[in-house]
Amino acid sequence: MRPALTATAFLSCVLAACSGVRDIDVVSPYVAESPYTGSDITHDFVLVHEQSRLGGGPRLYMTGTVIGGRTAPPPDPQRIAAQAGARGISVQVLSDDPAMDTAAGRYAESLTAAAAYAVAEIWPGRDARAEFTIILVEPGVRLSRAGWRLRRPGEAWRLRFYLETSELDDASRETWKAGGHVHEFYHLLAAAARVGLSDRRGAGPDAGFVYEETAAFLYEHCAVLSALGAASNAMSPGALLDSRRFGDASGLPESVSGPLPDEWLTHVARLLEAAEQGANPGSRIPLIDAIRLTLWSEISGGSWTIEAGTPQAERLLEVCRRVAPDPFEVRALIEELAADGVDAPPLPPRPRHAGPPPPDAGADAAGTGAAEPEAGAQPDAAREDEA
Ligand SMILES: [Zn+2]
Repeated sequence: MRPALTATAFLSCVLAACSGVRDIDVVSPYVAESPYTGSDITHDFVLVHEQSRLGGGPRLYMTGTVIGGRTAPPPDPQRIAAQAGARGISVQVLSDDPAMDTAAGRYAESLTAAAAYAVAEIWPGRDARAEFTIILVEPGVRLSRAGWRLRRPGEAWRLRFYLETSELDDASRETWKAGGHVHEFYHLLAAAARVGLSDRRGAGPDAGFVYEETAAFLYEHCAVLSALGAASNAMSPGALLDSRRFGDASGLPESVSGPLPDEWLTHVARLLEAAEQGANPGSRIPLIDAIRLTLWSEISGGSWTIEAGTPQAERLLEVCRRVAPDPFEVRALIEELAADGVDAPPLPPRPRHAGPPPPDAGADAAGTGAAEPEAGAQPDAAREDEA
């Protein structure tokens, strides 16, 4: 086990040309304790180190996974169970168990297809080559592993995540995880382009965070929809906004669940506008969940699933292409929907196969929010400002 290294220490080493330093894995399953330990929470994340002195976009970034199981994880497998590649995207799945090869192969193809579609069709024109390494682990491990990566100009992004084998037992969960890995990749692209959370036009990081998480959510679903034929939002958390959290009830009901009606959307747009000026929007994880669910319901017409080739798919792609390059468009979109005179349609009960929403961490774990939003209020895409 190597000791954890801070971004600043790693960067100092890189700048001092420490020989051969390229990646530092932070393998600390019981050091970087997750607050979710002991639950079934899975949480993939990226973290970008801001390098203002270097300019030219982020070069130092972290990718990793937290799984809140109970069993100590075995050493990482070294065996390549499957690989796939297309359009500058490559995916390698590692597993020591040959019985997983078929599922690993399917996952490598799905993730490659989704990411390749995203970089070529949703937000083209980026230097968006990426190498994904997906490490299969038995269900129930407790694991917190991440690694700092250095990306020199012209190099591919390298993303490394852990995936429980049980996620590959069910096609809808498998698709969901592939979307989640594309989602994390979007955060790196957004940081490189200085949009969303890195956008300095607004004073408030909360607004950038809400916008970037919404853009990442749309990006992953557009990628999955177009590459794999359909996208489902049935595993996202529900939306419950409690007006008391915002300090200004404005005569609104105390809470609302499900897609937000126009009256609430108008309120959300005002909160976001204030957040752009530096105000604290109160509770950003439920806010993100509510925005995601409402946009989904508006676009899908009240269905959990959108099939490729439908008018709903066209609408979703249109929104993705608008929001991915500029997540601040989310507020304009919300304002348009709030003013259209038609409330977001309600969604039917969740499909049985989806099971309960995964109670993963905050805005993300594979693009989901927490079932108890405040408990899991942790950004999946953090920025670490230079010391
Ligand atoms: Zn995210």
